[in-house]
Amino acid sequence: MKTIIKNGTVVTASDTFKADVLIEDGKVSLIGQNLPSEGAEVIDAAGMLLMPGGIDPHTHLDMPFGGTTTTDDFYTGQTAAAFGGTTCHVDFALQQKGQTLKQGVEMWQEKAEGKTIIDYGFHVAITDPTEASINEIPSLVDIGVSSLKVFQAYKGAFMVDDTALYKAMEKARDADIMLMTHSENGDAIALLTEQLVAAGKLDPGYHLDAHPREIEGEASARAIALSAVTGAKLYIVHMSCSDSIAQMALGRDRGYNVMGETCTQYMFKFEEDMRVPGYEGAKWACGPPVRTPEDAEFIWESLRNTTLQTVATDHCSFNYEGGVDGKLPGKELGKDGWHKIPNGIPGIEDRMPVMYHNGVNSGKISLNRFVAITSTNAAKAMGMYPQKGTIAIGSDADIVVWDPNKEHTISAKTHHMNVDYNAYEGMQVKGMPVRTIIRGTTVVDNGKLCVEKGFGKYVNRKNPVIV
Ligand SMILES: [Zn+2]
Repeated sequence: MKTIIKNGTVVTASDTFKADVLIEDGKVSLIGQNLPSEGAEVIDAAGMLLMPGGIDPHTHLDMPFGGTTTTDDFYTGQTAAAFGGTTCHVDFALQQKGQTLKQGVEMWQEKAEGKTIIDYGFHVAITDPTEASINEIPSLVDIGVSSLKVFQAYKGAFMVDDTALYKAMEKARDADIMLMTHSENGDAIALLTEQLVAAGKLDPGYHLDAHPREIEGEASARAIALSAVTGAKLYIVHMSCSDSIAQMALGRDRGYNVMGETCTQYMFKFEEDMRVPGYEGAKWACGPPVRTPEDAEFIWESLRNTTLQTVATDHCSFNYEGGVDGKLPGKELGKDGWHKIPNGIPGIEDRMPVMYHNGVNSGKISLNRFVAITSTNAAKAMGMYPQKGTIAIGSDADIVVWDPNKEHTISAKTHHMNVDYNAYEGMQVKGMPVRTIIRGTTVVDNGKLCVEKGFGKYVNRKNPVIV
């Protein structure tokens, strides 16, 4: 089975050039000019950019949280991803109390089974750090898991203490696993929450007061210091503000093995969006919370100057008006108290167009930097490179055919995510994927899904790299 993409402009994290791309058996086999097309299906990409498919390193599909479950399962979430030009993601398998880490992964494998549209992997989140769980960490590489998540927040649910974090880092270092942290001080959040609720401060805006920026900075600095001492590779997820990102810059200046991720929403949603009268602010409750426009500018600059190396979504979808018409309970669970709002913002479909339009079109980042932060760097950090994350001979033919002139208005009315609101509602973007190709097969073509459930494959990951 041969396919040739002709007349396009190939864009990787380092180069931009006009070339034809030949795909054989799901892999890129030749890149060159005026390649013969005999016996191959021909895709004409004149005027189009050919970029490596997007990789979202941080998503939560079919995840139980706060008495409900995220609305997007593996089918709807991955379908939406494909429409937005994302061809691979890494989701979080959460160990349940009393489970082994491997059982956590198996539980999430079952959720994905038979529903997949794009390729995927799993990080494991250690939430029950018994000696047995800690000792199990090195064996994760045998099941293709090269990243381990530790929560420094969510006390009483997912949080582990510094002893467990330190021990997990030692094991991760020895087994060459990327240690990921959610860095906020969970003890402080728990105390602040208790005080705010006791004082009757229950509107959605108080979520911000329980998650001050300083404690994200503090927990990030703590994780970076422990990584420096243990020598573990550290990837801090969803960095939201200058307090934490400045710590990342300092750690990288000192030569530590540390890198940082941000998420699209931190550049577009702000504290003022949560402090509106009424309940609307609940839509933007997530941890760490949305911050300020000044933080957004700091994030753009940090993406440009390589302090931050990946942009994820932390896609975690709950309906604004759930619990009616057979819909899962959603954000309305927190109507009588912000602390009961299920945390999360949807975005798996919009990350690529939003970052392209606001980053590349505005001149904030180059086209090659766009590819680096939306695909290549995630592939490297998550142990999938060069199978994923680039267009090169021998790599999986995960290619997004991108029309730089196509205009689109983002809206919940037309998106493919299974959720009743959109963080970028009304945003007019220029530059959209028109065809999404995974392992040489067209998955979405001009607004039409072209594969059956179960097409997406599990990716075995190993040897993560600090970028
Ligand atoms: Zn998350």
